[in-house]
Amino acid sequence: MTFKFASLGSGSQGNGLIVSSDEAQVLVDCGFSMLETEKRLSRLDVDATQIDAVIVTHEHGDHVGGVAGFAKKYALPVYCTPGTFLASPKLANLNSFQPIKGYASFKIKNLLIQPYPVPHDAREPSQFTITCAHEKLGILTDCGSITPHMELQLTGCSALFIEFNHDADMLKRSQYPLALKERISGRFGHISNSIAAKLLDRIKGPQLKHVVAAHLSKENNDPSIVRRLIADALGWSEDGIDIATQELGVDWRIVGPA
Ligand SMILES: [Zn+2]
Ligand SMILES: [Zn+2]
Repeated sequence: MTFKFASLGSGSQGNGLIVSSDEAQVLVDCGFSMLETEKRLSRLDVDATQIDAVIVTHEHGDHVGGVAGFAKKYALPVYCTPGTFLASPKLANLNSFQPIKGYASFKIKNLLIQPYPVPHDAREPSQFTITCAHEKLGILTDCGSITPHMELQLTGCSALFIEFNHDADMLKRSQYPLALKERISGRFGHISNSIAAKLLDRIKGPQLKHVVAAHLSKENNDPSIVRRLIADALGWSEDGIDIATQELGVDWRIVGPA
């Protein structure tokens, strides 16, 4: 059996990441309707009744929209920070809330989940690394800038699922209203391709096997730019670089043995 992950879909219209070991399966965020979530899980051969928990990064609709319904239907605990819980009316009636306090790590069977804070325009956003049998998966979406603590958390990963939100020039030239442009490119918005590539350059290591670019803007990004930047940062061929799309996400990628 293996420690692996797959994306149900990634972008401002909905997010969901499934992380699986020989013992545990967790869903990180669920921004899709019930029907769409079940359809996307079955595409990845995941039996929803086998999922152990849902973990939520923050209260924005593209991450939390489908969480409460899914967690109720499958009787799942929902882990998130108290701030995320309080800021999300959709979670208010949930009786399976498991608070992440002080970004303390916790275990779901043989998965060690380490939350870490990120600068984003949400109440108490958290991203995660998930470790199983000494292999670490780094998850980072929805952050406007990079802190030294984030870099430390993401160092030593075997696989990374990492936001490449927008090309700064495309965003500047876009038809978006000025306020929206400023929100996206601000320190609490979303990181640009070049910020993400610089981060990748600083956190890469010999154990890194997979990099999946995530949460790409449909309007203000181009997957070919992202591929080239990642290839340059890592010295890899562009063919080996994955982009999680809004419609199809990304198929299973193996982090390591579990
Ligand atoms: Zn988002
Ligand atoms: Zn967000």
